[in-house]
Amino acid sequence: MKFNRWLHSERSITITTVVGCPNMCPYCPQDIVKSVYLSRGGSPSLDLNDYYGYLQKIPTGVKVIFGGFGEPWCHPKCTEMVLAAHSAGHKIDVYTSLVGMKIEDVYILKAIPFESSFTVHLPDDNGQTKIRLDQNYLEVLRAIGAAGIRHLHFDLRQDGPAPVSLPPAVAQAIGSLPVGISRCHTWGGLVGDVTPKILKSWLPLRGCPRFYRNVLLPNGDVALCCWDMGMQHIIGNLKDSDYESLFQSNEFKRIKSGFCRRDPDILCSRCDSPMRQILGLSIPPAYRPVVRFLYERVRKLKVF
Ligand code: SF4
Repeated sequence: MKFNRWLHSERSITITTVVGCPNMCPYCPQDIVKSVYLSRGGSPSLDLNDYYGYLQKIPTGVKVIFGGFGEPWCHPKCTEMVLAAHSAGHKIDVYTSLVGMKIEDVYILKAIPFESSFTVHLPDDNGQTKIRLDQNYLEVLRAIGAAGIRHLHFDLRQDGPAPVSLPPAVAQAIGSLPVGISRCHTWGGLVGDVTPKILKSWLPLRGCPRFYRNVLLPNGDVALCCWDMGMQHIIGNLKDSDYESLFQSNEFKRIKSGFCRRDPDILCSRCDSPMRQILGLSIPPAYRPVVRFLYERVRKLKVF
């Protein structure tokens, strides 16, 4: 039980302020996001009154992340939403490409003590991440770098084996600040094939930490996790019900039992998230008996 308590100890909800992102990076399934969401009904932009209603239902122990299935600052009230979540006592993190952010937003945001990550997704010079390098963008980027924002990370996405590099104007704007590189994935096979080794899991995992790191859409629907861009698993709706009922829903129960059985109808069975790989899937075969032994020692049989 202790292992699974640890596995599911951190809860967060990622707010999608606007469905769809203008950057349209080729490795991101934005077309699928938009068409699936619009077919479910609801405005692509989060209504401010709805947001305050959702926020009231989210327990303060649940971290609020601004990111999700679109670019958060394409919503003109995104900074106001961040402030409201902070005032309500939530821990806050951000994942943004800065598109839509204004210089005034930076002055307000620098006062927020971000909990573990304010990640800025940067454009590259290789045509993989496309962000318009206009004057406003470069000014905001410079200001973000200079603002002393807590837990600021710059992130470049690499799709394929070829290395990516920064456009000179971007490199100049961020100066000597470090930039991390993360690999693209397939969102469970939404873009490209999932490598077979991920399907052949050998560790008897009973859950994923992301079961409780869900994504809120403007219409109140809550998707399982940030891998679920095809919205295959909507576990409930915060307009119609409260936060805890998300985890009592039939869909959530179906995911939990499907996870253990490696049910091919469950997104988790095709998942190529780094989290899932860290939890054992990419450990070389020679080490697996040891890891499995340790795993069995730390978990109790009754998991959920
Ligand atoms: S296994 Fe993958 S799809 Fe399933 S909850 Fe975890 S991150 Fe999401």
